[in-house]
Amino acid sequence: MKVFKFGGASVKDAESVRNMAGIVGAYGTGELMIVVSAMDKTTNRLEELTTAWVRNMPEKREAAFAKIRDYHLGILEDLLPDNPGAAEALTKLFTSLYQIISQEPPADDDRAYEMVVPYGELASSLIIWNYLTDRDIKLDWLDARELIITDDTLRDARIRWDLTVEQLQQNLDKRRHAGSAIAIIQGFIGSTLDGHTTTLGREGSDFTAAIIAYALDAEEVVIWKDVPGLMNADPALFPDAVMLENISFHEAIELAFYGAKVIHPRTIKPLQNKNIPLRVMSFKAPAAPGSLIHELERYDQEIPSYIIKENQTLLSFSPRDFSFMDEKNLSEIFAALSGHNIRVNLMQNSAISFSVCIDDHDERLERIAASLRDRFRIRYNKHLTLITIRHFTEEIITRFHRDANVLLEQRSRNTVQMVVKG
Ligand code: ASP
Ligand code: MG
Repeated sequence: MKVFKFGGASVKDAESVRNMAGIVGAYGTGELMIVVSAMDKTTNRLEELTTAWVRNMPEKREAAFAKIRDYHLGILEDLLPDNPGAAEALTKLFTSLYQIISQEPPADDDRAYEMVVPYGELASSLIIWNYLTDRDIKLDWLDARELIITDDTLRDARIRWDLTVEQLQQNLDKRRHAGSAIAIIQGFIGSTLDGHTTTLGREGSDFTAAIIAYALDAEEVVIWKDVPGLMNADPALFPDAVMLENISFHEAIELAFYGAKVIHPRTIKPLQNKNIPLRVMSFKAPAAPGSLIHELERYDQEIPSYIIKENQTLLSFSPRDFSFMDEKNLSEIFAALSGHNIRVNLMQNSAISFSVCIDDHDERLERIAASLRDRFRIRYNKHLTLITIRHFTEEIITRFHRDANVLLEQRSRNTVQMVVKG
């Protein structure tokens, strides 16, 4: 069995859904689970609708609702002009959303969010199920609220793994008995045991695909995107960026840690635990190989990756009492950093000073300086850039030294980080 995940961009209009159906149609006869996100930016639109509802702005609420409903009905009409059953089912879905937003909102805004935002995935899976069925692809529509069981953490629900695995496996057994090889399910949503719908955090559909793959021992997950695969650098900044055809789970997690927009570690982890490869492919060029994230680490060294973080501040502390930068001083600085919720992107210490690179943020900078000024002399330099290079070569470093004004540098075996001016 494979798991295919289609994100919002891959199903953003009727044409895209036809393209996606072509990809599913070409899959062949094996077992397949299709995980879909909300269409295009629907999740953002539903968030706006939720805000209008909880803030009691009836005009905005009506307009936001109508826009979302008409957008989906329009796509369905384009795909299936002569299918009154499908139109009726979708209209019914939006009627139930309308009933929700016509009531008093719950006291907790996040609870309101969980009542409204899942409709994006419900609507997209309904439209796509109807369209694929019409194209003679036989598939089941599964309700993630019956299979993905979570706790009640609003907007960031945690998976209850044992229950979820059991539900998914039982469902697969049942479908195998019935001879049903393909199913479609909503990403991003689940439910508590007592039946409250929950969401897994933005961009959660990738995670849903990983959960399903883990539970059902899939042979592979494919995430269909609008890019050819994972790149070694942002092509907007590096015109000669290349694709990473093969990287390890470990490397993908490292790249995400340093700020690359690759696959979220939370998606990687379940796959890594069961050694299930993850492919990132382009829905615009489905025959191209894409990128493969798997267990093998031997390809990681082949291509250096560049991760650029702009808008950085370099902040240095030296004890006013001329003591060394010892554990006691460091623990005071760390307590202040964590107390002010400041994430450290890089750190370095010497005998008498300690430096951290953090995101530019005047107010936080002021707060941390105020809390430590008595004990430390503090200097800072704003609007810098943090460059991280994985699998660097000496030649790359020499080039940066020549072309950039490097204020601070740190190297480990695989990674070099430089804070540069500008
Ligand atoms: N639709 C949700 C979002 O936009 C989940 C996802 O697309 O992964 O965040
Ligand atoms: Mg999305």
